Amino acid sequence: MAKKYGILAYPAGHSLSPAVHNAAFKAMKVRAEYKAHEIEEVDLDDFMKMVRNNFAGLSVSLPYKEIVIKYLDEIDDHARRIGAVNTIVNNNGFLVGYNTDFLGSNKAITEVIKGPSTKGMIAVIIGAGGAARAIAYGLLSLGMNVWIKNRTKSKADAIAIELAELFDAEIHSEEWDNWQTGDILINATSFWIQNPDTTAENLPKFCDENFLREFKVVMDISYNVHLKNFPDPLMTPLLIKAKELGLKTISGDKMLLYQAVEQFKLWTGEEAPIEIMRKALEEEGKRCF
Ligand code: NDP
Repeated sequence: MAKKYGILAYPAGHSLSPAVHNAAFKAMKVRAEYKAHEIEEVDLDDFMKMVRNNFAGLSVSLPYKEIVIKYLDEIDDHARRIGAVNTIVNNNGFLVGYNTDFLGSNKAITEVIKGPSTKGMIAVIIGAGGAARAIAYGLLSLGMNVWIKNRTKSKADAIAIELAELFDAEIHSEEWDNWQTGDILINATSFWIQNPDTTAENLPKFCDENFLREFKVVMDISYNVHLKNFPDPLMTPLLIKAKELGLKTISGDKMLLYQAVEQFKLWTGEEAPIEIMRKALEEEGKRCF
């Protein structure tokens, strides 16, 4: 019998994860199938019972990365400190939670910022949701100093206070109207999803050229953007601007790919076929968006 894996999300319709993981299983001759499960919160208890009884592993996406923790028997230290689980391994009915998002963003960033060390660099993160929190955790673990800013400042404050205790590197929260620059800028908001009518004339402040030009690298973790005036779902207006200014850019598919690579390792104990997963992600992205 093929082992069962899947992604839990709501909505889950446009998930690229089934294509990526099924391609990896096939390439590595792992007898397994991976499907998207769009589950409403009222059905979560029943779904998680089914996971415990029938699944070998699960990816967890919005809005369940925090809620799912109560169904687990154990949670690894990183996921516990981040406060979110995006990966579950089922060891014969014993569910263990992990977070591979921070590993995915670290890998996406360190493959672009080559050189001696990321220690002491300054990262500015915009957003204070689950993704921003995982990214901040990852960057602090690399020794980067982090400035985190969010429309709702109290959420950035909470992340800064909690993570500051865990690392030697510094983390500060910043007023929305201050625009501190640094070495790397990361957009971890869902701004593009919320604003599909964005045009070149009404870009958010974080796309301002005078702000951007001080950075060396710009990452935008959005990967499923449907803007009426910008047709490429990966090249967000932020990345377009950064490229025009000659800065290095990192699109959201990189973080997605590398977090999936870490999931594959957790589920199978084997190295993941990265290039096959990268190709599957690219093809499915073109097909869906
Ligand atoms: P959350 O819903 O937890 O957080 C959303 C964040 O976006 C909040 O900080 C929110 O601010 C901010 N935001 C939303 N609208 C606006 C706006 N109009 N102006 C300014 N800020 C805004 O989502 P996640 O953290 O889970 O995900 C964020 C994005 O990252 C999503 O687009 C998601 O698809 C993407 N993502 C990509 C991953 C990848 O692998 N590439 C992995 C995970 C997520 P406020 O608190 O004020 O509401």
